[in-house]
Amino acid sequence: MYYNRTMDNIYQILILLEFAIAVPIFIILFFIKAPYGRYTKRGWGPVINARFSWFIMEMPSVILPLYFFITAGAASNPLFLLFIIIWEAHYIQRTFVYPALMNRASHKMPLLILLFSGIFNTVNGIINSYGIFVLENSGTESLLSIKLIAGLLIFCAGFILNLTSDKILRNLRAPGESGYKIPEKGMYKYICSPNYLGEILEWVGWAILTWSPAGAAFLVFTIANLAPRAWSNLKWYRATFPDYPPERKALIPGIY
Ligand code: NDP
Repeated sequence: MYYNRTMDNIYQILILLEFAIAVPIFIILFFIKAPYGRYTKRGWGPVINARFSWFIMEMPSVILPLYFFITAGAASNPLFLLFIIIWEAHYIQRTFVYPALMNRASHKMPLLILLFSGIFNTVNGIINSYGIFVLENSGTESLLSIKLIAGLLIFCAGFILNLTSDKILRNLRAPGESGYKIPEKGMYKYICSPNYLGEILEWVGWAILTWSPAGAAFLVFTIANLAPRAWSNLKWYRATFPDYPPERKALIPGIY
């Protein structure tokens, strides 16, 4: 495939956009909660089944990186092979497995969230695959470098924390139940959103592994998106459950 200068320019613009947009998103989300899940409310337009929504909005993150990986001929490079396996492990889980396992009593999702998330996943999927597999198509680093091992370990720790924490939430509701309970297992003993901490750790690991502007932009955006929501979740738990353990924090045990 022929990649031209126009595509390189688009890449530069998109990556700057992802960094730039993270700042207002971070501030705004402390005041306006993204209206899905426990914060669903009227006035945000039509809503659809959340499982279907997750499936559709995450799909670009599965397809686009695979497209650039294959067309850039990156498969012959063991480093890039490792990157695509890690990326797809996360996104195949999020796109196919997470919605399939999701509690059927989960709130419906506004179409608007599907639209925004779908656009984000398209842009972010392009940045992270074009930037890494095409523009940096030299990847010659040893698979045993400290940076790669550290990044891989952090990614895996985050992936496990994210999966196990989502599972704990999923199992809180008995069949037919739709309300909320206080989670008591795993890292929920210390923070209210360990699934978000796991997600952030995954992309810390990815940023270290790939050592790329694209990885850094994704990490910054993820923190900007999830740190305010974890803060809102903590306030919500404290307001909803008078017996919510006061020592629990939002995202970082003992700190935040
Ligand atoms: P939540 O923790 O808000 O909800 C996850 C699921 O658990 C929902 O089905 C929710 O039901 C249910 N649930 C949550 N709390 C309780 C409770 N106390 N009692 C019973 N059920 C509960 O997570 P999100 O929906 O925000 O995120 C889902 C996944 O997607 C996470 O792994 C997250 O890390 C990831 N994500 C990643 C983002 C990124 O920027 N990379 C952005 C957003 C999410 P209900 O829908 O009814 O509230």
